[in-house]
Amino acid sequence: MNILEIKNLNVVYETKKNAFGATQKVYAVNGINLEIKKGEILAIAGESGCGKSTLAKALMKLVDISSGEIILEGTNILNFKDKELKDFYKKIQMIFQNPYSSLNPKMKIGQILAEPLEINTKLTKKEIKKHILETLEKVGLDESCLNNYPHEFSGGQRQRIAIARALMLNPEIILADEPVSALDVSIQAQIINLLKQLKQDYNLTFLFISHDLGVIKYLSDRVAVMYLGEIVETGQTEEIFNDPKHPYTRALLSAVPELNSKTTDLIELTGELPSPENLPMGCKFHTRCPFVMSVCQTDIPNSTNFSNTHKCHCHLYK
Ligand code: SF4
Repeated sequence: MNILEIKNLNVVYETKKNAFGATQKVYAVNGINLEIKKGEILAIAGESGCGKSTLAKALMKLVDISSGEIILEGTNILNFKDKELKDFYKKIQMIFQNPYSSLNPKMKIGQILAEPLEINTKLTKKEIKKHILETLEKVGLDESCLNNYPHEFSGGQRQRIAIARALMLNPEIILADEPVSALDVSIQAQIINLLKQLKQDYNLTFLFISHDLGVIKYLSDRVAVMYLGEIVETGQTEEIFNDPKHPYTRALLSAVPELNSKTTDLIELTGELPSPENLPMGCKFHTRCPFVMSVCQTDIPNSTNFSNTHKCHCHLYK
């Protein structure tokens, strides 16, 4: 069952005026269609700047959406106002890349964790404290942290606190935007395993955004590969890692050979990601694709299905 459906979503915004007073349009998210199934971990993979974080912010209504629909349990959230919006933010929460900037440095941990409950529930002080302590235990912390400020903790501990805060209102969906990339490698595995455990304990659905294919392979059930604001390939994690179809997916995997032992035809990713202000015509990947054909420069490729769950957009599979 789909808990969230994204239909033809577009996020286009204008740059600030340059020295000559001119602005440019930035095409950050372009016609994305995606379903997220209840209880799964769907990873969004792609290079920095491909639009992954803008997609997550769009799902949280933190950026203006130009067009499209975001359907949560059958209702388009873009029409939500006031109470509906408040209820929406109880169901969906976000964990950010940098746990220091996402926690108010002037508030003690106890205040940070109590705040969403004080605003959104009618729980008594005693009930709030009980809920906080239970959640802290789930994320591997305890009561001793309540009177401290965020700067008094390590990066890993701060991310545990940020995760605890995201759990305070018992959400159904967590959007995790590069949640371990700012952490030491030794701490990353602990946080990844914590997220995996919390998914089980709270029956959560995750949209997990990362450029780290190793983490994605370990954690996710399904993967959507994003390039220049578009989803170019989706599939079960094993389909993407064992039999990648899109040249961009193959190029990403080629950069991490230990993850794609079954792929014989490696592709080196060359050139820079084009600017989202000047999107290439046709297939957006054609400026970097070693298999580019003339049709790729003019026509947007349709979707080809390789299984019920695996599809990609590429003229090679017409
Ligand atoms: Fe390469 Fe053409 Fe496929 Fe795009 S559509 S990935 S340019 S072969």
